[in-house]
Amino acid sequence: MQTLKPWPVDGLESVPNCPVCGNGRRELLYNDLTDRVFNVAPGQWTLYRCTQCESAYLDPRPNQTTIGLAYENYYTHTAEDTPEAQPKNLLVRQLHAWVNDYINVRYGLARKPAGFGGRWLVPLVPSFKAKADTKLRHLPRPPQDGGRLLDVGFGNGGFLKLASEMGWHAEGIDFDPKAVAVAKARGLNVRCASAADLSDQNEQFDIITLSHVIEHVHDPITLLKDLYRLLKPGGILWLETPNLDSLGAKRFGRNWMALDPPRHLVLFNTDSLRNSLAQAGFGQISPHWNGMVLFSIYAQSAAIARGQCGQDAVHQVTPSFAAILAELRGIVQPKKREYITFIARK
Ligand SMILES: [Zn+2]
Repeated sequence: MQTLKPWPVDGLESVPNCPVCGNGRRELLYNDLTDRVFNVAPGQWTLYRCTQCESAYLDPRPNQTTIGLAYENYYTHTAEDTPEAQPKNLLVRQLHAWVNDYINVRYGLARKPAGFGGRWLVPLVPSFKAKADTKLRHLPRPPQDGGRLLDVGFGNGGFLKLASEMGWHAEGIDFDPKAVAVAKARGLNVRCASAADLSDQNEQFDIITLSHVIEHVHDPITLLKDLYRLLKPGGILWLETPNLDSLGAKRFGRNWMALDPPRHLVLFNTDSLRNSLAQAGFGQISPHWNGMVLFSIYAQSAAIARGQCGQDAVHQVTPSFAAILAELRGIVQPKKREYITFIARK
């Protein structure tokens, strides 16, 4: 059932200026938005688009004290390698095995089951290769002594586990105590902290990754500046976030799953994220492509448009024709991709 409870009034804060560029001029994008992805967060939300940098942001939005209300039953609280999370469809299982063979060779892993031939087959299908490379976040091999990697907002810790298996000294921080508890139980090196809390570790990390995190934070620019400080000179930042100018955003409008209020406080397009990275000091900003992600987004957005909960369509295996077409367009139209995936260097 759709939740219509209001957000606690004293748990809101107003956002008169764009949290990305500070400009006060804006236009209304959507009003009366509610949590239709998980149907757990109370409140109705208004999303504005900055007329200067074209980022979008909620105003008002949950403050730091109450934002946890939006994360009850959030999906980061379960691990993806539990038996019930394994695919049941035989073809999907075979594809997973081929992808394992590819990433084992490409990234020096020993994932099982590994399907013979995946190392040659996966690169033949751009979507599969892009998806596999994004799963490993395009990581280089670690140096001999194992470099230091920090994952900010590590979710269920699946990526930290992979990075550790590659030989990285992988650590994670997250503001969600439940996510920290789940990852600790998996034996991962994690703690409940923000990037600002690590100020004693400036210039200590070879790589920092940030997957679908920047859209959740109250002050994305300060976060990027903190991460810049934490990286060694020449260090790499990998980040990914939904693209407000994507084909899916245009097609589904207010039903686009990645609006995800009130968890997504800020949404970027490729230019506003690129400019934010440059403003924080980063250079050599290069775009990458995450394959097949929009199949899930399209299915969930279509479910939301039908009045259902987005989660009802999470396990939909067969993509729609529109989704396949958008996937192909994403190859040649980087600014219309569903996600913005960037690698930047200090
Ligand atoms: Zn702006």
